This record gives sequence, structure tokens and C-alpha cells, in this order.
Amino acid sequence: MSTIWVLGAGQLGAMLKQAATPLGLDVRPVDIETDEILPLDKNDIVTAEREEWPVTAATKQLATHDNFVNLSTFPQLADRLTQKQWLDKLELATSPWFPVEANSTAEQFHQALGDRVLLKRRRGGYDGKGQHWLIESSGTSAIPEDWHGHAIAEQGIPFDEEVSLVGVRGKNGETYFYPLTLNLHINGILYASIAPLERLKGLQRKAEAMLSKLMNALDYVGVMAMECFRVGDELLINELAPRVHNSGHWTQAGASSNQFENHIRAVAGLPLAPAVIKNQSMMLNLIGIPVNYDWLAISGLELYWYKKEVRVGRKVGHINMCAENYGQFINAIESLSALPEPYPQALNWLKANLPQSEKAK
Ligand code: ATP
Ligand code: MG
Repeated sequence: MSTIWVLGAGQLGAMLKQAATPLGLDVRPVDIETDEILPLDKNDIVTAEREEWPVTAATKQLATHDNFVNLSTFPQLADRLTQKQWLDKLELATSPWFPVEANSTAEQFHQALGDRVLLKRRRGGYDGKGQHWLIESSGTSAIPEDWHGHAIAEQGIPFDEEVSLVGVRGKNGETYFYPLTLNLHINGILYASIAPLERLKGLQRKAEAMLSKLMNALDYVGVMAMECFRVGDELLINELAPRVHNSGHWTQAGASSNQFENHIRAVAGLPLAPAVIKNQSMMLNLIGIPVNYDWLAISGLELYWYKKEVRVGRKVGHINMCAENYGQFINAIESLSALPEPYPQALNWLKANLPQSEKAK
């Protein structure tokens, strides 16, 4: 069996490798800064854990390989402008938007989009970085000088909540989807997820149809995530990620085959797994806090620590938990109650949104 190379050696690459190991597949995440000559074979496969990358000795070697899956899709989705154009072209609902051009003014955006307008850098934004709010009513409405030509302006959406759909498409076009995931973002960064939720089931088919349309149009192979705003019974696509996604991490605990395994299966041309979902799952991101191995004493808790230097606002790990009853979750949540701000908000959100009984789920 050929080697599967992953452009990028962060936590997603590590988890792809981990998921492929029981299948006997050789997955090798590549640090984009390495100077190594990679022993690439023409039958190998290349995938990526990130949607854009600088030109380096390593990325040059990988990006010129004939079997780089989805190579032409990455630049189209990594640029928010072309991503939005794709959504419009396919008539998929998304927050109304305009490009921020050389002569664009804040007044124009407010006139077209309303009081709250969110500027987003076209490239390189993640975890809420590369965002700038224009709020007319509070007089904070200036487009940063160097954002002209490099950003889009989106209508601020007063959404009810945020959900995401993680799907996988195989080389033969077959698709599978995990259940919709409920997500909590604080300051633009994902803190917690819950899945599955009975109350989101009514939106599942609609969400699957939206993501299918996209994956089919792009002839995409592998896992893709679609982040949405739920506004009543409608879904507005916030953004797409052509890769395994943080809001799918719960599948490591709560699905018979997780998003990482399904991505590897897809890019390797192996049969996909329609995952069997187990009980109830939650995921809590570890952001800017040190690891505490006492957490391992919490019943049912699964810890993923990325061995990254802890910095404010940086994702350094996550906690998964899959359990049958609410009491088990409450026990874990209470055991984590000493976590600093803004964790009390995230823990309260989990408490409030985890189904309290099988019936209420
Ligand atoms: P990621 O790390 O997921 O790639 P990101 O920083 O690239 O995130 P977005 O997902 O576009 O950027 O935005 C981050 C968060 O900011 C969203 O999850 C949502 O909470 C908020 N947000 C984004 N766009 C809007 C909008 N148009 N209206 C209101 N809130 C928004
Ligand atoms: Mg996002």
C-alpha cells in the first residue's frame, strides 16, 4: 500500500495518522518548514490538513505530486471571496456579502448590509483572527487601511445558534454525513460542541443537500466541513473547510469510524464507513490553558493534548466525552469547573444544551 502524505504536521495531521494506524496505512504528516527530500513514490497519495500554505521546499514537493487529492479546490475555498462566489453560483444560502474594494466605504456597506457588518480578511483567518466589525450605531466604523482589496464585508447575522455538518465524499461520488453538530464559539473561536441532537434532526437533510451540492460541484474527495448559522428553520452557510474539522472531533469518541479515518479512507480510495453513532457526545477545546493530567480521573473523559506551547487563545488540546446519561456529563462538567474564563460560559452552555434524558435528546 502506498504512503499517504499530509501537508502540515499539526494536530490534524497527527490525528489523521492516529486514525489510519489500525488500518495498517502509512500516513506521514509533513512539517511545511522541513528541508528534507521526501521519498515520494509516484503511487503515493497527498492530502492536506490546512487549506493554504506558503511555498516552501516541502510544499513544493507535495504540491507537484500527481496524486494530490483536491489540489485545485484548496485555493478556491481558502480565499473567502472565491468561496463566497461558489456559494452564490450554486445558490446556497450564505450571509449577504460584498468584496472590500479599493474604493469601498463603510457607509456603502451599512447601507447595503445594515448596522452590523463583519469584515473578514480573504486569506489566512482562523479562530476569529482576521475579523473586524463595523458597527454604525456605536460609531466604530472604519475600514482598516490595508484591508481594501484583501477582505470581504458580511452582514452581521443575529443567528439563533451555530451548527456544522461534516461529510465525506468518496472517489466514486458516494457521500456520508455525521449528524449536525451544535457549536459554541466565543470571540470567534470554537469552545465546545455537542452531537447528536434530536432537535437538529429536522435540519439534517437540508444540510446534507447543501454540502452534497458543493462537494459534487467541486468533485471533492475526502472530508469537508460546513459551518452554518441557524436562523429559525433556515441554514446560512458561514464557511467551508476542505479538511477534517474541529467541530468533528467528537466523532473520535462518538462514532464507529471518525472523521479522520473516513478522510483517509476517501483519499486512499478505500470503502467509506457510514458511521454508527454512539450515545451522546460532547467536545471541549483546550484553549490557552495548560494540561492537567488529573482530568484523566474524570469518568469517561478522553484527552487529546497536542504538545504545543500554551499561548493565549491557542488551541492546545481537546476533551471528548461520549456517554449514555446526562449525569455522567454533569459529573465531568463539574469536575472542570475550576477552568478560567471564559470556560464557565462554555461549561454552562454544555450543561444547558446537552439533552437531559434520552427522551428529551
Ligand atoms: P475558523 O477557525 O472556524 O476557520 P474563522 O476565524 O476562519 O473560523 P469564521 O468561521 O468566519 O472565521 O468566523 C468565526 C466566528 O465568528 C463564527 O463562528 C461566528 O461565531 C462569528 N461570525 C462569523 N461571521 C459572522 C456573521 N456574518 N455574523 C455574525 N457572527 C459571525
Ligand atoms: Mg469558522
